[in-house]
Amino acid sequence: MPYETFSGGYERASRLGHATAAVRALADKADFYVPAERLGDTTWLRDRIRPRSDLARSTSPLKAALAIDGSHVVESVRDGMPSVVYGYAQAAAAFVDLDVMETQRAQRFVDPVAIAEAVNSALVSLDLPVAGAYTRPGIDIATSWRELVAQLFATKKVQVNRLDQSLLDLLMLLHGTPGTPAPHVPVHCPAPGCGTEDVPVPAEGAPCTGCGLALHPTDTLRLQEAVSEEGRNEEPLGRLRSVVELLVLVGLTTLLWEQSRGDLLASTLFLVDGPLAMYGEPAKLRGRAETYFQAMAATTPGDAPYLCGIEKSGAMVDYARQLARNDVLAPGELLVCDAAVIARIANTADPANYGKETYWGRKFIYRALARIFRPPIGDHRDATRWAAGA
Ligand SMILES: [Zn+2]
Repeated sequence: MPYETFSGGYERASRLGHATAAVRALADKADFYVPAERLGDTTWLRDRIRPRSDLARSTSPLKAALAIDGSHVVESVRDGMPSVVYGYAQAAAAFVDLDVMETQRAQRFVDPVAIAEAVNSALVSLDLPVAGAYTRPGIDIATSWRELVAQLFATKKVQVNRLDQSLLDLLMLLHGTPGTPAPHVPVHCPAPGCGTEDVPVPAEGAPCTGCGLALHPTDTLRLQEAVSEEGRNEEPLGRLRSVVELLVLVGLTTLLWEQSRGDLLASTLFLVDGPLAMYGEPAKLRGRAETYFQAMAATTPGDAPYLCGIEKSGAMVDYARQLARNDVLAPGELLVCDAAVIARIANTADPANYGKETYWGRKFIYRALARIFRPPIGDHRDATRWAAGA
């Protein structure tokens, strides 16, 4: 019996409603290999597992966590013209004072004001036409994207206490070293047929040395290469969001590095949503991030900065769940993901090459002591959190 809708008609089943069941039935009949499905003999993992007692206590215990999380969405915005798509992306950061959280946890009644004071949100958001709409007449969608991203980066500031820097400032900083932004960034000329590489482009832009096209510093991200005239361009918007998340991380770590290197920076854990990685067209930033944070570590006392990404889906997470289900990894234990483990999970004979162009952190699997951890950031997704990264 179908439900009745507001307009008086009947609600129909989605035309593709049966597709999931059909694909599952097909997969059931097919024969393929899923590494996470067959754990097999796990004794070889034993010497790679460290108990909690083994993990060296840092000299300066962590007092705070700074979590950075982004999101993006695309919507058709013209009635009768579904090809006109507008996009919105944001990155939020929340600072959590662990002392306050612990005190509150110990008390019988949690004081919401104390919690709110322990968590301050900061935000940078961008919105732009992503498909079927252009900055001006007579240009293609890739040029429109280039102009919009350049303009947004120059004007959007990351709104955090004392961090008064635009996304462009942070992009130049990421190409330099902590405290010293690079004077220019390398741009691969986007003009069809030009192909000039590594044109040095300063913050204010410069003409291509090969063809004279006006280049923006944000062209270094190569986002326009993922943009197409057809479709909703959600993927390049997602890439843009991950770049913004990385730049927020650069901004916040550098702020603490400049103002409180020995104290706040050394006692704060920076958490990023997703692995420490850069996918797709802006992947060159992966190497920049690695170099930048290594330079920061070299000029900071102790082991700081502490950077960690949290992976919530993918082969690594499936494997981690299997290890927990079979109690190969007990609560409080950490699995060091060396080449052998990576080879097993990624099903590759060449683990050294795995993620070389993508990841700027190292993977590990940690089984939390708490079964359900509800992050204090207004986000109640299931979080038997499997951390991978750092
Ligand atoms: Zn050119």
